[in-house]
Amino acid sequence: MKIGVLGAGQLGRMLAIAAYPLGHQMAFTANSKDAPAAPLGRTFVNNNKHDAIKQLTNASEVITYESENTDVEIVKEINKTTDVYPGAKSLFTTQHRGREKAIFVKLGIPCAPYQMVNSLRDLEVAVEKIGLPAILKTATEGYDGKGQFVIRTKNQIEKAWQSMSGVEAILEGFVNFKRELSLIAVRGLDNSHKYYPLVENTHHNGILRLTISPAENISAKVQKQAEHYMQTLLDEMGHVGVLTIELFETSNGLVVNEMAPRVHNSGHWSIEGARTSQFENHVRAITNSPLGETDCLQQYCAMINIIGKHGPVNKVLELSNTHLHLYGKTERKGRKLGHITITANTLNEFKTTLSALEAFMP
Ligand code: AMP
Repeated sequence: MKIGVLGAGQLGRMLAIAAYPLGHQMAFTANSKDAPAAPLGRTFVNNNKHDAIKQLTNASEVITYESENTDVEIVKEINKTTDVYPGAKSLFTTQHRGREKAIFVKLGIPCAPYQMVNSLRDLEVAVEKIGLPAILKTATEGYDGKGQFVIRTKNQIEKAWQSMSGVEAILEGFVNFKRELSLIAVRGLDNSHKYYPLVENTHHNGILRLTISPAENISAKVQKQAEHYMQTLLDEMGHVGVLTIELFETSNGLVVNEMAPRVHNSGHWSIEGARTSQFENHVRAITNSPLGETDCLQQYCAMINIIGKHGPVNKVLELSNTHLHLYGKTERKGRKLGHITITANTLNEFKTTLSALEAFMP
């Protein structure tokens, strides 16, 4: 099929790399011709947003997007002539933290207590209800920890509100978690579901640095619980394609933090680590093809992000059980430039390889 992607970053690039062996063609909208996905398909540069989207729609039989910040009205408009997956309901829900929390509550999925905040007065009331510490986040457009303020004492309330620059915000109770996990799943047009194993994520300065797959010591019961939460969300939103949920592991069980209606950085390991990658499964789902198996090919797998500087990438190529992915971006502080996948069959081999790649860790 001819697949169009709104956006042309590394996610679009990896979707294309997965789509070509299946015989599909790719097209993108991009902010510039230098975008990571641009070399992999027809690219319509967004200097006139409306024209680029029209060109993409004309060139595509099905459309998907890279970011939950995609304009819902654009998706609805395109959907009048060309199918867009995931649909507007998934996008509308996941691009606003309040709507996300409301759906978690509706479906009985544990999440942090929360209050929407539109003024300093609202924030004062919310702090009274939720207690401290708490975390204030912008309701929309936050990513990689941006637009967040941890409030520990009451005298920080005013500063916290000021840091939101007047935009709608959400106050969340602080979750005392042991680990951060994520679950990636895919739902097909025929309502089939596949789930990847829960993975463990480590962040630094709000940016994902390391994913371990599968997460250590996850019981079958906990995996099933996470899959149950995921299934209810997929079905409620009529989601088609990959959906990611980020969770906290606490002493009282799993607490869901947020979700993304797309392939996710914490699923990049699946390119070499799983029987079918998240990218291929997203492509399969939106093209109405059978979904692929999601089991792990080796016992231990990890993904290390390359952030800001490329570093000693030849070192990665010298190792026998690693794979290097570079996105064709220039170096910039905090920018995701690529990632490394490590696969191993023994814990010893796994640990030795992780240590050999220390230079890439913060
Ligand atoms: P988010 O943008 O919601 O993924 O938040 C970024 C990071 O802040 C998460 O990865 C957590 O480490 C932390 N965080 C977010 N929400 C909470 C919360 N309610 N309680 C404790 N930590 C949180």
